Amino acid sequence: MGKITILDEHIANQIAAGEVVERPSSVVKELVENAVDAGSTRVDVSIEEGGLQLIRVTDNGGGIEEDDVEAAFFRHATSKIATSQDLFSIRTLGFRGEALPSIAAVSKVECLTSAGSTGLGTRLRIEGGTVRLKEDAAAQRGTDLSVRELFYNTPARLKYMKTVQTELGHVTDYMYRLALAYPNIAFTLKHNGHVLLQTLGSGDLLQAVAAVYGSSLAKSMLKIEGETLDYKLEGLISKPELTRANRGGITTVINGRYIRSFPVNQALLQGYHTLLPIGRFPVAVLHLTMDPTLVDVNVHPAKLEVRFSKEPELIALIENAVRETLGRQRLIPQGGAPA
Ligand code: ADP
Ligand code: MG
Repeated sequence: MGKITILDEHIANQIAAGEVVERPSSVVKELVENAVDAGSTRVDVSIEEGGLQLIRVTDNGGGIEEDDVEAAFFRHATSKIATSQDLFSIRTLGFRGEALPSIAAVSKVECLTSAGSTGLGTRLRIEGGTVRLKEDAAAQRGTDLSVRELFYNTPARLKYMKTVQTELGHVTDYMYRLALAYPNIAFTLKHNGHVLLQTLGSGDLLQAVAAVYGSSLAKSMLKIEGETLDYKLEGLISKPELTRANRGGITTVINGRYIRSFPVNQALLQGYHTLLPIGRFPVAVLHLTMDPTLVDVNVHPAKLEVRFSKEPELIALIENAVRETLGRQRLIPQGGAPA
């Protein structure tokens, strides 16, 4: 007998949880992304104690059919891709089928979901990866998923959690990005019962910017757009006099996915050229759309980094669009027509 054994699903999930579920904000991210993928127009997020006590995400999306509810918590179980070919053209935020089993392995989950309009659905309770209850229950179409006592069975991980304020900060930051990525979805975020974010879901990006940054900043945003053969850019950028001390005000969204990209940031800053004081950064929301085969989102489990196959074209598009928008501004001085 050799020494190698294949780990059972339970242990495998706990190991995967170490990667997928770093902190409360990772749970919020995975659950909200599932809600978005399910076609929701409303997503309500309610958390307690920075998410360590409770994370609850309620959506009005397509829900999960009774036959699929348990399967959704199996490892590598997904309704979003089926073949390895699909990996090259991902149109959903999720696709790994890792989030629900990983989350359920390190917390106490209750999922109430309905895929129809009969007012009936399914309730499933899982504790530390073990199914405790599955029953029929009254439910509206959509999914209501609660995650309690995150890391209750992984004390080593729990020990690494920072203060409630720090964990809450990560959650809020993520929710802001998502609200900016999806102005057509009405989001709310509550912490210990207090409303921290509320968007209308009207589809107007400026309204989403106002909800996140306040209406006075929103008023001084400039529209930006541009197109090449492969890429389309739309968004809002701040006037050069409205700057911040770091890049945190830059939100890049690629095919609906919030990402961080050094080359995109650089292109944006290049567009401002010398208009920005040294060490100062603009507020910007850049929505880029492209054929999904032109971008590889399968770089890291958190999917925050991507690779572009035609990067120079993209860089030039952003830089030029920023320059044009700012140039137009300067032709028309405040308070009067050009001479
Ligand atoms: P992935 O999102 O990568 O497919 P998850 O583990 O996050 O993997 O979810 C597994 C499956 O459960 C999804 O593919 C989807 O079919 C279903 N699911 C999860 N959350 C929701 C939701 N809020 N609404 C509808 N279906 C959901
Ligand atoms: Mg998912």
